[in-house]
Amino acid sequence: MASLGIPANTIAVLQKYGFQFQKKYGQNFLIDTHVLEKIISESEITADDCVLEIGPGIGTMTQYLAENARHVVCVEIDDHLIPILKETLSAYDNVTIIHGDILKTDVKALCDTYNEGKPLKVVANLPYYITTPIIMGLFESHVPLSSITIMVQKEVADRMQETPGTKDYGALSLAVQYYAKPEIVANVPPNCFMPRPNVGSAVIRLTRYDKPPVEVQDEKKMFALIRAAFNQRRKTLVNAVSNAGIYGITKEDVQNALEKMGLSLTIRGEALDLFQFARLSDELGKK
Ligand code: SAM
Repeated sequence: MASLGIPANTIAVLQKYGFQFQKKYGQNFLIDTHVLEKIISESEITADDCVLEIGPGIGTMTQYLAENARHVVCVEIDDHLIPILKETLSAYDNVTIIHGDILKTDVKALCDTYNEGKPLKVVANLPYYITTPIIMGLFESHVPLSSITIMVQKEVADRMQETPGTKDYGALSLAVQYYAKPEIVANVPPNCFMPRPNVGSAVIRLTRYDKPPVEVQDEKKMFALIRAAFNQRRKTLVNAVSNAGIYGITKEDVQNALEKMGLSLTIRGEALDLFQFARLSDELGKK
C-alpha cells in the first residue's frame, strides 16, 4: 500500500470507499509526510515498543508506526473506517485494529494483552473535541505509559505548559505537569490536514515522571480542589473551594489553611502553583 501521507493517495482511498468526513468525530486526516516523520522521531519509538494509537483514521500514521514499532494497537470509533483500515494496513502483521470508543476502552487490558503489562507509548492525532478527557483518563487511570506524543489544538498545547499568572493556566496545566514533563515539539498549520481545521495545531510530547514532582497525601483530593478553584476562577480561592461543597470543606477551613501557608485570604486559585495546591490539600486533609 502506497504511503497515505501523500495527499493523492489519501484522496484515492477516500474516493474508493466514498468516505464522508464526520465532523462529530473530529476527523482531520494528516496529509504531510514531514509532519508524520517528525511525530515518529519525536515519539522516540523503537523496535521494542508497543504503541497505542487513538483514532487511526484511514491508517496514515499507523503505517509509519508499524514500520518503527514492535506492535501497534489502534482504536477507532467510526464504523466506516474499519474496512478501510483493514485494507490500508493489510501489509502489516504487527497491527491490531480495535473498533471502539477510546473513552470506554480498557487500556490497562490492552497493555496486559499486547505488552505484558509494560509501559505503552501513546501516539495520536487526537480528535480535538475530546482531547482533555482522553489525556486525563490516561493519566488518572494509572495505566503504565512512558510517553504520550499527540497532535492537539495549539491553544491546548500551550495551556498544558502554562505556569501561574497567565490566563491559560488552569486545571489541565496542573494535571499534565503533575504526571508528566510537557514539551511542544512542532507547530503544525491547517494545510497539513484534510479537511483543514479552523485552528492551528501543535505536537506535544508528555514524558511521564516516574514519581510526580510534588508529594501529596491524597491525589484525588488535590485534583478536586484544583477543579473547584478553576471552575470559578474569578472568585477567591476561599469562595471557590467552599462553594464547591467538596469533602465538607468550609470557608473557615480554607482561610486557616491559607494563613498557615502565609498566603493572602483573597488569593485566587490561578495564583497557586502545583506545590501550593499539594500543600493546601494536605493542610485541609488534617481537618
Ligand atoms: N490518525 C489519523 C490521521 O492522523 O490522519 C486521524 C486523526 S483524526 C484528527 C481523529 C480520529 O479519531 C478520527 O479517525 C476519528 O474518527 C477518531 N475518533 C474520534 N473520536 C474517537 C473516540 N472516542 N474513540 C476512538 N477514535 C475516535
